[in-house]
Amino acid sequence: MGARQAARDGDRRIGRRALLVGGAVAVAGTAVLARDELGRLWWRAPGVVKPRKEGEVDYAGARWVAASDANWRRADRPDDYGIDMVVVHVTQGSFAGAVRAFQNPAHQAATHYIVGRDGRVTQMIRELDVAYHAGNRSYNERSIGIEHEGFVDRPEDFTDAMYTASARLTAGICARYGIPLDREHIIGHVEVPGTDHTDPGPHWDWDRYLRLVRRAATAPVRAAPDPA
Ligand SMILES: [Zn+2]
Repeated sequence: MGARQAARDGDRRIGRRALLVGGAVAVAGTAVLARDELGRLWWRAPGVVKPRKEGEVDYAGARWVAASDANWRRADRPDDYGIDMVVVHVTQGSFAGAVRAFQNPAHQAATHYIVGRDGRVTQMIRELDVAYHAGNRSYNERSIGIEHEGFVDRPEDFTDAMYTASARLTAGICARYGIPLDREHIIGHVEVPGTDHTDPGPHWDWDRYLRLVRRAATAPVRAAPDPA
Protein backbone atom coordinates (compact mmCIF):
# COMPACT_ATOMS: atom_id res chain seq x y z
CA MET A 1 0.00 0.00 0.00
CA GLY A 2 1.39 3.45 -0.92
CA ALA A 3 1.41 6.41 1.45
CA ARG A 4 -1.43 8.08 -0.41
CA GLN A 5 -3.52 4.93 -0.13
CA ALA A 6 -2.76 4.69 3.59
CA ALA A 7 -3.80 8.30 4.14
CA ARG A 8 -7.05 7.76 2.31
CA ASP A 9 -7.82 4.65 4.32
CA GLY A 10 -6.96 6.52 7.50
CA ASP A 11 -9.44 9.30 6.75
CA ARG A 12 -12.11 6.84 5.97
CA ARG A 13 -11.41 4.86 9.11
CA ILE A 14 -11.92 7.86 11.39
CA GLY A 15 -15.15 8.75 9.58
CA ARG A 16 -16.53 5.28 10.01
CA ARG A 17 -15.42 4.99 13.59
CA ALA A 18 -17.27 8.18 14.44
CA LEU A 19 -20.41 6.67 12.96
CA LEU A 20 -19.96 3.37 14.74
CA VAL A 21 -19.27 4.73 18.19
CA GLY A 22 -22.65 6.38 17.86
CA GLY A 23 -24.86 9.00 19.44
CA ALA A 24 -23.50 12.14 21.09
CA VAL A 25 -19.96 10.78 20.97
CA ALA A 26 -20.10 10.67 17.18
CA VAL A 27 -21.19 14.31 17.07
CA ALA A 28 -18.37 15.37 19.39
CA GLY A 29 -15.79 13.25 17.55
CA THR A 30 -13.34 10.63 18.72
CA ALA A 31 -10.94 13.18 20.27
CA VAL A 32 -13.31 13.87 23.15
CA LEU A 33 -14.49 10.35 23.98
CA ALA A 34 -15.51 10.18 27.61
CA ARG A 35 -12.78 8.75 29.80
CA ASP A 36 -14.70 5.66 30.84
CA GLU A 37 -15.60 5.03 27.23
CA LEU A 38 -11.93 5.25 26.30
CA GLY A 39 -11.08 2.85 29.10
CA ARG A 40 -13.43 0.26 27.67
CA LEU A 41 -12.66 0.94 24.03
CA TRP A 42 -8.98 1.75 24.31
CA TRP A 43 -8.09 -0.17 21.20
CA ARG A 44 -10.45 2.01 19.18
CA ALA A 45 -8.41 5.13 19.95
CA PRO A 46 -6.66 6.58 16.90
CA GLY A 47 -3.34 4.88 16.19
CA VAL A 48 -3.94 2.00 18.60
CA VAL A 49 -3.96 -1.45 17.04
CA LYS A 50 -6.08 -4.26 18.39
CA PRO A 51 -4.03 -6.95 20.13
CA ARG A 52 -3.30 -10.00 17.97
CA LYS A 53 -1.79 -13.32 18.83
CA GLU A 54 0.24 -15.31 16.32
CA GLY A 55 -1.76 -18.26 15.13
CA GLU A 56 -5.03 -17.11 16.68
CA VAL A 57 -8.21 -18.08 14.83
CA ASP A 58 -11.64 -16.44 14.85
CA TYR A 59 -13.48 -19.74 14.48
CA ALA A 60 -12.69 -22.44 17.02
CA GLY A 61 -13.03 -25.21 14.41
CA ALA A 62 -10.33 -23.74 12.18
CA ARG A 63 -6.64 -24.47 11.88
CA TRP A 64 -4.40 -21.46 11.19
CA VAL A 65 -2.12 -21.19 8.16
CA ALA A 66 -1.05 -17.62 7.36
CA ALA A 67 -1.68 -16.21 3.90
CA SER A 68 0.98 -14.01 2.30
CA ASP A 69 0.37 -10.45 3.44
CA ALA A 70 0.35 -9.40 -0.22
CA ASN A 71 -3.09 -11.02 -0.47
CA TRP A 72 -4.88 -9.01 2.22
CA ARG A 73 -4.85 -5.63 3.91
CA ARG A 74 -4.51 -4.93 7.60
CA ALA A 75 -7.70 -3.45 9.02
CA ASP A 76 -9.64 -3.16 12.24
CA ARG A 77 -13.03 -4.56 11.40
CA PRO A 78 -15.76 -4.25 12.44
CA ASP A 79 -14.68 -0.86 13.83
CA ASP A 80 -13.31 0.68 10.65
CA TYR A 81 -15.50 -1.24 8.23
CA GLY A 82 -18.69 -2.99 9.22
CA ILE A 83 -19.00 -6.66 8.22
CA ASP A 84 -22.41 -7.53 6.79
CA MET A 85 -21.71 -10.22 4.23
CA VAL A 86 -20.30 -13.70 3.67
CA VAL A 87 -19.08 -14.48 0.14
CA VAL A 88 -19.06 -18.14 -0.95
CA HIS A 89 -16.37 -19.26 -3.41
CA VAL A 90 -15.26 -22.50 -5.04
CA THR A 91 -11.52 -23.02 -5.53
CA GLN A 92 -11.47 -24.67 -8.97
CA GLY A 93 -8.70 -26.85 -7.57
CA SER A 94 -7.56 -28.81 -4.55
CA PHE A 95 -7.49 -27.72 -0.92
CA ALA A 96 -3.67 -27.84 -0.88
CA GLY A 97 -3.56 -25.86 -4.12
CA ALA A 98 -5.70 -23.11 -2.59
CA VAL A 99 -3.51 -22.95 0.53
CA ARG A 100 -0.40 -22.66 -1.66
CA ALA A 101 -1.99 -19.96 -3.83
CA PHE A 102 -2.92 -17.87 -0.78
CA GLN A 103 0.62 -18.21 0.59
CA ASN A 104 2.00 -16.96 -2.72
CA PRO A 105 2.49 -13.17 -2.76
CA ALA A 106 2.09 -13.13 -6.55
CA HIS A 107 -1.42 -14.57 -6.32
CA GLN A 108 -2.93 -11.22 -5.29
CA ALA A 109 -6.00 -12.85 -3.82
CA ALA A 110 -7.09 -14.97 -0.87
CA THR A 111 -10.10 -15.72 1.28
CA HIS A 112 -10.28 -15.76 5.07
CA TYR A 113 -11.20 -19.45 5.14
CA ILE A 114 -10.96 -22.61 3.05
CA VAL A 115 -13.35 -25.51 3.65
CA GLY A 116 -12.33 -28.96 2.41
CA ARG A 117 -14.42 -31.76 0.92
CA ASP A 118 -13.74 -33.62 4.16
CA GLY A 119 -15.10 -30.72 6.22
CA ARG A 120 -11.78 -29.40 7.48
CA VAL A 121 -11.54 -25.62 7.90
CA THR A 122 -8.35 -23.60 7.53
CA GLN A 123 -8.22 -19.91 8.38
CA MET A 124 -5.57 -17.89 6.52
CA ILE A 125 -6.58 -14.27 7.19
CA ARG A 126 -8.07 -12.78 10.36
CA GLU A 127 -11.65 -11.58 10.16
CA LEU A 128 -10.58 -8.10 11.24
CA ASP A 129 -8.46 -7.81 8.10
CA VAL A 130 -9.63 -7.21 4.54
CA ALA A 131 -8.99 -10.19 2.26
CA TYR A 132 -8.76 -9.68 -1.50
CA HIS A 133 -11.32 -12.20 -2.67
CA ALA A 134 -14.36 -10.54 -4.20
CA GLY A 135 -12.61 -8.47 -6.89
CA ASN A 136 -14.52 -5.44 -5.59
CA ARG A 137 -13.02 -3.14 -3.00
CA SER A 138 -16.13 -2.27 -1.02
CA TYR A 139 -17.32 -5.91 -1.03
CA ASN A 140 -13.91 -6.99 0.23
CA GLU A 141 -14.12 -4.43 3.02
CA ARG A 142 -17.56 -5.51 4.18
CA SER A 143 -17.32 -9.28 3.81
CA ILE A 144 -15.73 -12.53 4.94
CA GLY A 145 -14.67 -14.85 2.11
CA ILE A 146 -14.93 -18.64 2.27
CA GLU A 147 -13.41 -20.92 -0.37
CA HIS A 148 -14.74 -24.44 -0.90
CA GLU A 149 -12.53 -27.15 -2.33
CA GLY A 150 -13.74 -28.37 -5.69
CA PHE A 151 -14.93 -27.43 -9.15
CA VAL A 152 -18.12 -25.59 -10.05
CA ASP A 153 -19.06 -28.24 -12.65
CA ARG A 154 -18.57 -31.21 -10.31
CA PRO A 155 -21.56 -31.38 -7.96
CA GLU A 156 -20.03 -34.43 -6.24
CA ASP A 157 -17.33 -32.12 -4.84
CA PHE A 158 -19.92 -30.44 -2.60
CA THR A 159 -20.06 -33.10 0.09
CA ASP A 160 -22.28 -33.33 3.18
CA ALA A 161 -19.19 -32.77 5.32
CA MET A 162 -18.35 -29.61 3.40
CA TYR A 163 -21.86 -28.15 3.58
CA THR A 164 -22.12 -28.91 7.29
CA ALA A 165 -18.71 -27.49 8.18
CA SER A 166 -19.17 -24.40 6.04
CA ALA A 167 -22.66 -23.77 7.44
CA ARG A 168 -21.31 -23.89 10.99
CA LEU A 169 -18.53 -21.49 10.05
CA THR A 170 -20.95 -19.07 8.38
CA ALA A 171 -23.41 -19.27 11.29
CA GLY A 172 -20.58 -18.29 13.64
CA ILE A 173 -19.51 -15.37 11.44
CA CYS A 174 -23.10 -14.12 11.18
CA ALA A 175 -23.53 -14.38 14.96
CA ARG A 176 -20.31 -12.43 15.59
CA TYR A 177 -21.32 -9.48 13.44
CA GLY A 178 -25.13 -9.63 13.55
CA ILE A 179 -25.40 -10.56 9.88
CA PRO A 180 -28.91 -11.64 8.77
CA LEU A 181 -29.12 -15.27 7.64
CA ASP A 182 -30.46 -14.63 4.17
CA ARG A 183 -29.35 -14.54 0.55
CA GLU A 184 -28.93 -10.76 0.61
CA HIS A 185 -26.07 -11.23 3.07
CA ILE A 186 -24.79 -14.72 2.29
CA ILE A 187 -23.92 -14.50 -1.38
CA GLY A 188 -21.88 -16.18 -4.08
CA HIS A 189 -18.84 -14.63 -5.74
CA VAL A 190 -20.94 -14.60 -8.94
CA GLU A 191 -23.27 -12.08 -7.29
CA VAL A 192 -20.57 -9.49 -6.54
CA PRO A 193 -21.07 -6.48 -8.81
CA GLY A 194 -18.54 -6.31 -11.63
CA THR A 195 -17.19 -9.85 -11.23
CA ASP A 196 -16.51 -12.20 -14.11
CA HIS A 197 -16.36 -15.20 -11.73
CA THR A 198 -19.14 -17.77 -11.77
CA ASP A 199 -18.47 -19.54 -8.46
CA PRO A 200 -19.95 -21.26 -6.57
CA GLY A 201 -21.87 -22.24 -9.74
CA PRO A 202 -25.23 -23.85 -10.47
CA HIS A 203 -24.60 -27.01 -8.42
CA TRP A 204 -24.15 -25.19 -5.13
CA ASP A 205 -27.39 -25.91 -3.26
CA TRP A 206 -28.30 -22.54 -1.72
CA ASP A 207 -31.57 -23.73 -0.16
CA ARG A 208 -29.78 -26.53 1.59
CA TYR A 209 -26.90 -24.30 2.63
CA LEU A 210 -29.16 -21.61 4.14
CA ARG A 211 -31.16 -24.29 5.92
CA LEU A 212 -27.95 -25.69 7.44
CA VAL A 213 -26.71 -22.23 8.40
CA ARG A 214 -29.99 -21.45 10.17
CA ARG A 215 -29.91 -24.82 11.91
CA ALA A 216 -26.31 -24.29 13.04
CA ALA A 217 -27.25 -20.84 14.30
CA THR A 218 -29.94 -22.22 16.59
CA ALA A 219 -28.10 -25.38 17.65
CA PRO A 220 -26.79 -25.38 21.20
CA VAL A 221 -23.05 -24.77 21.50
CA ARG A 222 -21.25 -28.08 21.47
CA ALA A 223 -19.64 -28.90 24.75
CA ALA A 224 -16.26 -30.62 24.86
CA PRO A 225 -16.59 -34.42 25.02
CA ASP A 226 -17.24 -35.60 28.55
CA PRO A 227 -14.15 -37.49 29.75
CA ALA A 228 -16.31 -39.54 32.13
ZN1 LIG B 1 -14.50 -16.80 -6.14
